[in-house]
Amino acid sequence: MYRTHNCGELKLRDKGKEVKLSGWVHKSRDLGGMTFIDLRDRYGKTQLVFNMETDSVLCSKARKLGREYVVRVKGIVEERSNKNPKMSTGDIEIIVTGLDILNRSELPPFTLEEETDGGDELRMKYRYLDLRREPVKQNILHRHRFAQEVRKYLDGQGFLEIETPVLIKSTPEGARDFVVPSREHPGDFYALPQSPQTFKQLLMVSGFDKYFQVVKCFRDEDLRADRQPEFTQVDCEMSFVEQDDVLVTFEGLAKHLFTTLKGIDMKESFLRLPYERAMAEYGTDKPDLRFGMKIRELSPIVKGKGFNVFDNADYTGGIVAPGCASFSRKELDKLTDFVRKPQVGAKGLVYVKCNEDGTFKSSVDKFFGQDDLKQWADEMSAGKGDLLLILAGEMAGTLSALSELRLEMGNRLDLRDPEKFSALWVVDFPLLEWDEDAGRYFAMHHPFTSPRDEDLELLEKDPGRVRANAYDLVINGVEIGGGSIRIHDAAIQERMFRALGFSDEEARSQFGFLLDAFKYGAPPHGGVAFGFDRWVSVFAGSETIRDFIAFPKNNAGRDVMINSPSTISEEQLKELGLQIIKHNQS
Ligand code: ASP
Repeated sequence: MYRTHNCGELKLRDKGKEVKLSGWVHKSRDLGGMTFIDLRDRYGKTQLVFNMETDSVLCSKARKLGREYVVRVKGIVEERSNKNPKMSTGDIEIIVTGLDILNRSELPPFTLEEETDGGDELRMKYRYLDLRREPVKQNILHRHRFAQEVRKYLDGQGFLEIETPVLIKSTPEGARDFVVPSREHPGDFYALPQSPQTFKQLLMVSGFDKYFQVVKCFRDEDLRADRQPEFTQVDCEMSFVEQDDVLVTFEGLAKHLFTTLKGIDMKESFLRLPYERAMAEYGTDKPDLRFGMKIRELSPIVKGKGFNVFDNADYTGGIVAPGCASFSRKELDKLTDFVRKPQVGAKGLVYVKCNEDGTFKSSVDKFFGQDDLKQWADEMSAGKGDLLLILAGEMAGTLSALSELRLEMGNRLDLRDPEKFSALWVVDFPLLEWDEDAGRYFAMHHPFTSPRDEDLELLEKDPGRVRANAYDLVINGVEIGGGSIRIHDAAIQERMFRALGFSDEEARSQFGFLLDAFKYGAPPHGGVAFGFDRWVSVFAGSETIRDFIAFPKNNAGRDVMINSPSTISEEQLKELGLQIIKHNQS
């Protein structure tokens, strides 16, 4: 027998018991005639005591144990004189009477403590050791609890967990597909699902009116920070529902998770913010509503004073940073540098300080008098002591820069507390998005999203104005998930494909199976998918999804532990009928 208890459970009530424990040697200290070892397993740590005086053979053996050796000990539970309230077993220790070495360990390449001296790449190479560290282990436990609560809630609501295939066919969902060559059918390829979208819709046609799946999805996207080529979705679909039914059901899921995992009781209904307002007031479709600082447009009142930047801009707008009129020259210069960063993209920053004495000081005093500046401050509801930060330029770019500036000010003013949560739905997304380079419309969500009934007639006349029955769940400025009511009518689906520039033949060859299925009584349906990794990390107050995935890829999409992706043998290539063409890497 390896253990009667685990390393995290023995308490004072167990005093006097003879126990067996197995685990890893976390740390060892020799103090005079005594040797203390912290024995660790998944559940915690327990202090082992060896005494040179009472058993010198055993104590000498213990002194030779290296870090991360795997051992089994037998001993008696004793009350500790030096209690450690930080450890769950801190009231007791084990007076060891027997010790077996189950396995030796080389010295790990980095320390396996809360804080480690191992760099990112090294920790990824030895991820199985990194997972022994307490904070990383806690992340994995948190993810597990999260998944269980998701299942509990959805099962309780009558949802069925149904698996869908991983080797499928390419579907245009916005990203590039990962493909898998078929050996049996040389020249043919499977694609890995970007999401189970079409399958869950087919399940609705089959009559499984509430479906969910915690499922791996694959997207071959350029790897921006903290993206993973494979990630997990909580994918859901329902039949005989309207948008409101879906939002209510999954708001229920979100609230269940807030209560059970964060201890937060969210009584109020989540705000439903139309896309247009989100863009106008926050410059983004995923606003962080933990703080206000809404964007205000100033275009109509700032033109005509000879300041070219405003006169030539198609949009001018700003935010009010409360209590920041005292910012120094240096702080303002730093903010100017911030908005000029390529990822923010503004050319410059105009500021107005609303001084305590009722006067104004701005970076454009040459062009605008006190009355002008007062008018701006009034328009933006700014008060004494506030600072106006104003950007101008082309509309979409300026709004996006204002959004970044707003978040930056939120950070500086400590308004983005990771333990505070704000959740909302963004609704009424446009159905289509014009792509200048491709010269055609793309589906903003995906091609199966239904247009709003009242906008349907615009689908051919003015496609850009059609709104969709689509929605996103946003928590703390992070898009947690999105979905839509689907098209369930083959004729409307065909019109949608046409609006997207598919010929009827192309639509048939790619989606014939779905169009066919819709001929056999497809129920009205809709659903949503949540980015599971992202949601788990937001709840843990972290910005990195990698920390919550047991075996993640690095920022270059590589698994440095197993060394993947990697080449395959000539023989495998031949079998698959593939030939590698080397591109010159420049
Ligand atoms: N399949 C969609 C996605 O992955 C979500 C949905 O519409 O349900 O974004």
